[in-house]
Amino acid sequence: MAIYNLGSINADYFYRVPHLPGPGETLAAQGLNRGLGGKGANMSVAAARAGARTVHIGAVGNEGLWARDQMMESGVDTRHVSVLSDVPTGHAIINVDASGENAIVLLPGANHEIPEETRAAALAEASTGDTFLVQNETLNQAETAKMARELGLYVAYAAAPFDADATAKILPYLDFLILNEVEAAQLESATGKTAGALGVPDVIITLGAKGARWITQTESRDFPAMPVTPVDTTGAGDTFTGYVLAARDRGLPMEQAIMLASRAAALMVTRHGTADVIPDLKDVDEARF
Ligand code: ATP
Repeated sequence: MAIYNLGSINADYFYRVPHLPGPGETLAAQGLNRGLGGKGANMSVAAARAGARTVHIGAVGNEGLWARDQMMESGVDTRHVSVLSDVPTGHAIINVDASGENAIVLLPGANHEIPEETRAAALAEASTGDTFLVQNETLNQAETAKMARELGLYVAYAAAPFDADATAKILPYLDFLILNEVEAAQLESATGKTAGALGVPDVIITLGAKGARWITQTESRDFPAMPVTPVDTTGAGDTFTGYVLAARDRGLPMEQAIMLASRAAALMVTRHGTADVIPDLKDVDEARF
C-alpha cells in the first residue's frame, strides 16, 4: 500500500534563543541551521522512514530544489512535487528556547500554489486502500479529500495549524483525524462538539509529554508518552502522524501503531532539528526508554 500526502514543503530557519521573544523585543540568537521542514514534508519523511511507500504531492520554488531532493534522499517519492518558477518556496522561522519550546512564523509561498493537475496526476496512481493524508499548510484540502474518498482511499487529516473553515469542509470525508490538545480545544469551541463526537471513525489527540488519546465510536484509550528529556519539540506531532499512518498502512492494529508512533515522537524530542532528524525504524526499535 502507499500514503499519498498533499502537504507543505518548507525551508526551516531554526534559531536557538535564550527565551521566546516578546512583543517589541530584539533578541540575539545563539545559533542558526537551515533544514527541510513544513508539516507535510515532515510527515512524508516520517512515513517513509517508518517503512511506508510515501508519495508527496506538493510544490517548491526554483530555489527550493534542495528541499525536494532532501525528501527524495529520505525515501519519499517526489515525482509529484512541482517546481514553480514565479513563487518562493514556503519557509518557516522557528525559534526554540532553552527548554525546547518553540514559536513559529510561516510564509506559505509555493505551498499555496500546488497546481490542480499535480494533485490529480498523483491521485490517478492511487489504489483502493491506500492512504490520503493532508494538513492545513496547503489549500484545497476538502476537494482533494473528496476525490481521494471517491477513489476508495483511507482519508487522514491533521488539523494543524488549526483552521475552523478548512476543518468544517473536510470533516465529511474523514476516516482519521489527528490533532494536538490546543487544536482539540479550538475545534471544540468552533463546532461546539468534542473531536471524538464528530463522527470520524478514528480520532487521535496528542497530549505532548502526557501521551496520546485514541477515540473511536465506542471507546477512548490513553497511551503514555515515553519518559525522555526534551530538547526540541519541533516536529514531534508530525513524526507521530507519519509513524502512526505508516504503521497502519503496513497492517499493524491501531494500538500498536500508536505505541510505535509514541516511541518515534519521544526520540524526536530528544533531537534538535526537523525533517533531517526524524528517526528511522531502526533507531526507534533500538531506543531504550
Ligand atoms: P509539535 O511540537 O510538533 O507542534 P504537537 O503539538 O503537534 O507537536 P504534541 O502533542 O506536543 O504534538 O506531541 C506529539 C507526540 O509526541 C505526543 O503524543 C507524544 O507521544 C510525543 N511527545 C511530545 N512531547 C513529548 C515529551 N516531552 N516526552 C515524550 N514524548 C513526547
